[in-house]
Amino acid sequence: MLTSASIKNQALTLGFDVCGVAPATALPELSFLPEWLARGFAGDMIYLHKSAHARADIRHFLPSARSVIVAGAIYNTEGPGPATRDPGSVQVARYARGQDYHLVLAERLEQLASWMREQQGASLETAIFVDKHHVQERVYAQHAGVGWIGKNSCVINPELGSFMFLCGIATSLALDVDAPATDQCGACTLCIDSCPTGAIVDAHVLDATKCISYLTIEIDGAIPESQRPQIGDHAYGCDICQDVCPWNLAPVLTADPAWTATPRHGASAGELWLRTDDELHQFVKGSAMTHLSLAGLRRNLATVIGNSGDRALTAVLDRPGRGVRNAAHSAHTPVVEDAVAWAKGRLK
Ligand code: SF4
Ligand code: SF4
Repeated sequence: MLTSASIKNQALTLGFDVCGVAPATALPELSFLPEWLARGFAGDMIYLHKSAHARADIRHFLPSARSVIVAGAIYNTEGPGPATRDPGSVQVARYARGQDYHLVLAERLEQLASWMREQQGASLETAIFVDKHHVQERVYAQHAGVGWIGKNSCVINPELGSFMFLCGIATSLALDVDAPATDQCGACTLCIDSCPTGAIVDAHVLDATKCISYLTIEIDGAIPESQRPQIGDHAYGCDICQDVCPWNLAPVLTADPAWTATPRHGASAGELWLRTDDELHQFVKGSAMTHLSLAGLRRNLATVIGNSGDRALTAVLDRPGRGVRNAAHSAHTPVVEDAVAWAKGRLK
């Protein structure tokens, strides 16, 4: 007989660090999305507008859904705060340093769903979700007791912190649900005060168009010039509002080989810039960073070099991909060339 407890045990066996169950009902926080979109905070993420209706209720994702199983996996492999790095090195958000979580988590969820059907019978309906699916997983995580949604919009588990992937399974099975997590941010405003771009415009309200994660990952075109200095040394994403969070001061580190695979953080921006497209592709291969085009990565690297203050790197920008002069090379897109021109001007 399948129960919430047996599913949670199996989830932990499969490599998840926490698991809870929420009801597949019209939870109040699900209705915040339209207002957030109407305020323009999604910027160019048109897919969020297009999928807003689907995201309004998990029963649009799985019509027979009665329960939502939410699983979390810690991805953090380093201590608190930005690690000591060489000058001119790049920051890569912690979640993107290991293997591509979409693939790893989907495989684990498929194993969990398959095990559930073995226990309950083939008629059991399940649908897995991992980030890219049209599910507001943070709302269900809060109602599954996995963690509360902090003022930085991340889900925080009191024992594990917030460096945690969230994913889950909607199912037709009516399971015992967990008590929702309680908000424990209190009077703290560290994340709001520490955000270098002022992207957290109010508690729990993120203006994504100001967020370094959005600027370095979500947009294909040029990063607005006024925002380039704020990118600093972030080549892919940003962890500042999580690094400063008191709930991450003594973070649980994972030994999961999926997240400890290849170090991508702390590489030299200049050295990365000089790689050919093939070499740059090898650098990101297998990670979530492949969701950014090589041109996007070069745009970010040029921006980081421009912010480095190291004038010697000006010459490096003139040697894209070790002198490759192929027009199809990613260093020669208008967006990258614009970032290079900006970087050279800033380094003068
Ligand atoms: S990820 Fe960085 S830029 Fe975005 S809200 Fe957090 S601190 Fe601000
Ligand atoms: S830094 Fe403070 S306010 Fe922000 S999420 Fe953490 S506890 Fe909440």
